[in-house]
Amino acid sequence: MLPDPEGFLYPQTDIKLCTGCEECEKVCPARSNAPEKKHAQIGCAVQHINRTVLKRSTSGGAFSAIAGYVLRNGGVVFGAVMSDNYKVVHACADSFTDLARMRGSKYVQSDIDDSYIAAERYLKAGRMVCFSGTPCQIEGLLAFLGVSYPILITVDIVCRAVGSPKIWDKYTKMRQESVSSKITRFSFRDKTAFGYQMSTMSAYCGEELMYCGGIATDPYLRAFFSNICDRPSCYDCRFKKRYRNSDFTLWDCFDLNRFSEEAEGMDAALGVTCVLAHNEKAAALISKLSDELTACVIDPETLAASSREMTRSVSLNHNRENFFKDAGEMTGEQLFNKYFPVKLKNRAEDFIRRAACKTGLYHFIRKCAKRIIPSFKRY
Ligand SMILES: Cc1cc2nc3c(=O)[nH]c(=O)nc-3n(C[C@H](O)[C@H](O)[C@H](O)COP(=O)(O)OP(=O)(O)OC[C@H]3O[C@@H](n4cnc5c(N)ncnc54)[C@H](O)[C@@H]3O)c2cc1C
Repeated sequence: MLPDPEGFLYPQTDIKLCTGCEECEKVCPARSNAPEKKHAQIGCAVQHINRTVLKRSTSGGAFSAIAGYVLRNGGVVFGAVMSDNYKVVHACADSFTDLARMRGSKYVQSDIDDSYIAAERYLKAGRMVCFSGTPCQIEGLLAFLGVSYPILITVDIVCRAVGSPKIWDKYTKMRQESVSSKITRFSFRDKTAFGYQMSTMSAYCGEELMYCGGIATDPYLRAFFSNICDRPSCYDCRFKKRYRNSDFTLWDCFDLNRFSEEAEGMDAALGVTCVLAHNEKAAALISKLSDELTACVIDPETLAASSREMTRSVSLNHNRENFFKDAGEMTGEQLFNKYFPVKLKNRAEDFIRRAACKTGLYHFIRKCAKRIIPSFKRY
């Protein structure tokens, strides 16, 4: 797998070694024409009971509860982590300490590395495996395995799109240069600063907050949410669908009251995950997690209809080509200053969003703004 000039990995075939078996093409999910098949689903909104887990999870911590079940049963978990040099890669966890690194969404394409091969090895040895990732990564795994394993639990997310590792690298270098201590952790959706509703990028050195920027000012969040740095296939994603081959689909629940008046025991302001269980195995597993999760059952039709990103691809930003052309020549600072300068209006928007968060009116104001200005960002 080699990066292209935009920093996205693509497979390269060594023609001298190729036997022409076409196995790689046969298992490529992007080439599959299998139609979406309807099946029974269970829908629910959940929140992790453990406040520390909840704080570090993007939404309600459903992933941690599912993964925790697998670890307690002697299994291993695969998911996206950030390496010491801030690369987003898939890794394997066999302990709760390692699992913690997988928590939280990283809005960058994760390098799957040899995770499929490692997962297959565990499955063949009879060890339970939880594999989490974007819908395309899960379809890739299932096609690679070729056979179904009852001891495999797959968890995909509703994925808006994945950002370029090259642009992320430019951002992390710029951010690191602006602070004196080594950044040990980035959080793409930090709840600690302004709560769950407002997308906030934070950088930490240990527990010390080094940087914090909201959706209106942070250049990486602005680039990601303006669809300028996504993988080309994300603009016409064939894995965006409601009926999936995974066991679970997870996504953000920003509007719990819309589904249920009686979501007892859940504090929506701390984050809630929407869950679609796609089969009986997943439904049975979720019912075993009542010690970890507070849950309320929701009609899957209503739940799925609440997510535009589940079925609709992002639209191409008309400046994307120029952006990547400049990315080849500019430093992160030059690039972000050119395309996402922080002007007075951005600071004012940031101030209003933060104030709205503090007063608890963020959700209400965002809803009104969306009605008045259709292009207003939902994040
Ligand atoms: C790139 C991306 C785009 C997303 N877009 C949307 C969206 O448009 N709308 C929406 O409602 N929700 C979106 N989500 C999902 C959402 O952010 C939460 O991941 C989801 O609600 C589950 O949260 P949680 O609290 O249960 O678990 P968390 O602890 O937040 O779960 C993290 C899980 O996500 C996986 N993950 C994290 N980063 C990556 C990555 N780069 N590649 C592959 N897997 C990753 C981890 O392996 C783990 O399984 C997106 C997530 C990602 C990673």
